Amino acid sequence: MQHLRKRILVTGGAGFIGSHLCERLVAEGHDVLCADNFFTGTRDNIAPLLNSPRFELMRHDVTFPLFVEVDEIYNLACPASPVHYQFDPVQTTKTSVHGAINMLGLAKRVKAKVLQASTSEVYGDPAVHPQTESYWGNVNPIGVRSCYDEGKRCAETLFFDYHRQHRLRIKVARIFNTYGPRMHPNDGRVVSNFIMQALQGLPITVYGTGGQSRSFCFVDDMVEALVRLMESGDDVTGPINLGNPHEVTMLQLAQRIIELTGSRSTIEYRPAPPDDPSRRCPDISLAREHLGWQPSTALDMGLRRTIEYFDRLLAQMEGREPVTRPKAQVVRIA
Ligand code: NAD
Ligand code: UDP
Repeated sequence: MQHLRKRILVTGGAGFIGSHLCERLVAEGHDVLCADNFFTGTRDNIAPLLNSPRFELMRHDVTFPLFVEVDEIYNLACPASPVHYQFDPVQTTKTSVHGAINMLGLAKRVKAKVLQASTSEVYGDPAVHPQTESYWGNVNPIGVRSCYDEGKRCAETLFFDYHRQHRLRIKVARIFNTYGPRMHPNDGRVVSNFIMQALQGLPITVYGTGGQSRSFCFVDDMVEALVRLMESGDDVTGPINLGNPHEVTMLQLAQRIIELTGSRSTIEYRPAPPDDPSRRCPDISLAREHLGWQPSTALDMGLRRTIEYFDRLLAQMEGREPVTRPKAQVVRIA
């Protein structure tokens, strides 16, 4: 497809989802400015792009104003793993709230379209299942997850107030659990934890009973959805659920990862973290209708590709050959 060349800012572009998004946008021929403070992101994630004349990397914390000239902004800056966002909860809230104000202010000044990476966490521990966008959620405002959940909820409020008050063109994506290559190996999220543990023959740490559910979307599908949302008509503001409606329990996930890695790891039960949502599954009817989108990567396929990635990473760290055979990684740089 022929795309108009645009100047696009991706905050949090050195992170897991952000780096895949930057790759996609550069491959489409756009000029991409990645702004990241490297709290959880790394230069390694965007290493293949650093030589491209269409890609620019800027160390910047979104809690401070940014003065650049762009046509579109994807605001992804924010740690996403509970371990990381609870490390400095005050900074997490500032990143969501001040970050949103700064990116909305920038969008207003340069008349850019702006997309917010919101989250299924705005639904908290949901009383409605599967979650539709009309559900207002069940969030603890003072718990250990609140810095993230309430920060993201406040960011959504700001996006809609800027839209109503200043006619800004906004897009709010409620992203459900996303996984794939370049997740941080130590970020504590379930897919990276289980795969790293399985590949090292360590016990698989299932929190609580393992009966709690999540629905996992492969990162390529998520990037496709984010780009489609940005390109949708101005009347499509969201909030719109983006995720994979295939729901699994953590015990099922652990067992599948053990099978796919051929690991001899056993399952070890640990206490459930506070406020851990018991069920989560998106209703993606709106995304189907407005974006013509639904995920196309089955869980097994996505897990295989993620296992290959972590196996290569471990092999590098341990100075050995990877056990799984990686497919060629094709990075197209326009
Ligand atoms: P990630 O931690 O890999 O990426 C976040 C990026 O933001 C990192 O590169 C980090 O260094 C950067 N960052 C953090 N604070 C910053 C700040 N103050 N200024 C500038 N950069 C900052 O996480 P991810 O999984 O890629 O998530 C990306 C976005 O998507 C986040 O906003 C997250 O809340 C949202 N999201 C992700 C998921 C998921 O399952 N991965 C689910 C829901 C929502
Ligand atoms: N979880 C687990 N073992 C782990 C890490 C996480 O059982 O080693 C569980 C966690 O309690 C939660 C689910 O997996 O129920 C998803 O956790 P994650 O941190 O990946 O994301 P979130 O809770 O934000 O959806």
